[in-house]
Amino acid sequence: SYNFAAGPSGLPAAVLERARKELFAHGDDGSTAFEQPFTGEAFGATLARARARLRDLLAVPDNYHILFLAGGATQQFSMVPLNLLGNAAHVAYADSGHWSQRAIREAGRYAAVTVAARYEGERPLAAPPLSAWRLPDDCAYCHITPNETADGIAYPALPDCGDVPLVADVTSCLLTAPLEVARFGLLYAAAQKNLGIAGMTVVIVRDDLLRRPAPLVPSSCDYRAQAAQESRANTPPTIAIALAGMMFDWIAQQGGLAEMHTRGQRKAALLYDAIDASGGFFRAPAAPVHRSPVNVRFELANSALTAPFIEYSARRGLHHLRGHSAFGGLRASLYNAMPEEGVRALIACMADFTRSYG
Ligand code: PLP
Repeated sequence: SYNFAAGPSGLPAAVLERARKELFAHGDDGSTAFEQPFTGEAFGATLARARARLRDLLAVPDNYHILFLAGGATQQFSMVPLNLLGNAAHVAYADSGHWSQRAIREAGRYAAVTVAARYEGERPLAAPPLSAWRLPDDCAYCHITPNETADGIAYPALPDCGDVPLVADVTSCLLTAPLEVARFGLLYAAAQKNLGIAGMTVVIVRDDLLRRPAPLVPSSCDYRAQAAQESRANTPPTIAIALAGMMFDWIAQQGGLAEMHTRGQRKAALLYDAIDASGGFFRAPAAPVHRSPVNVRFELANSALTAPFIEYSARRGLHHLRGHSAFGGLRASLYNAMPEEGVRALIACMADFTRSYG
């Protein structure tokens, strides 16, 4: 069976098998990975390996810290403004859809938010045009969501924000393609999509952006303190970090990010082509240049067939194709763990369903 959920998503069979073996194995002190003290040598080695592997995969420059923090991406919606605002009066955000709007709402609790770019129209179906960005003078950073998981859209290119640090929520796209880290001041991604399991978020932050956080920031949420103590200022999510390390190893073994990108482009092209060739029975609403390769949002022209299709596909082992609750319809998430056979099985299922119900 195949898991098309937007998150937590499926894991590669090889990673699950390795986790089954290694996490339950007893070390020299008799403890399993679940029981290792976070300050001890065994977990220290797991943490260092995961960090080094991620630095390698993404070619993270030396002047960036890699943090593995407890909590989800939503927590970063607060931690980013609380840690990066400094003495600036403003923060800028691009409004590209569901998750960027959630980030904007949260940032508005701590700072004056300028919307640097926004969708036009009733429903955001294309990423904001890169030409007309408005950045206030006194602006701590500009935040974007390069892949909007719920809307099923992605930026075709990054904006140029000049000297203003670019901050990106890459929760649904980190490690699906090479990324030029040096173009960003800070990147963050919750782990439950491409980096393993829920409970942990990776933050990659440029050295010069680590500054004294706002006075009421909990000390566990202080990037500076977490960077100084290599993500061990308090107990980190040890098992989620161990799983992420296994995912990083698996990606490296598969051929790294260039290979993930090639596979991802091929999977997305197969599915979008099948949708476009269905004669309007299925359709993908996003403008083609903005279609997400990771989260394929689509729908049936006859919305009464949505529930029957979800049942029909589940009977064939194709699970969690329901669209995000804000949009309805259908969504197939094609993270790194989704093999091309899964996409081909979905396309065959769509064809059979069309024959039965079309
Ligand atoms: N940002 C993006 C782009 C997401 O896709 C999600 C979850 O789907 C979130 C933020 C929220 O993440 P979390 O549930 O880990 O807080």
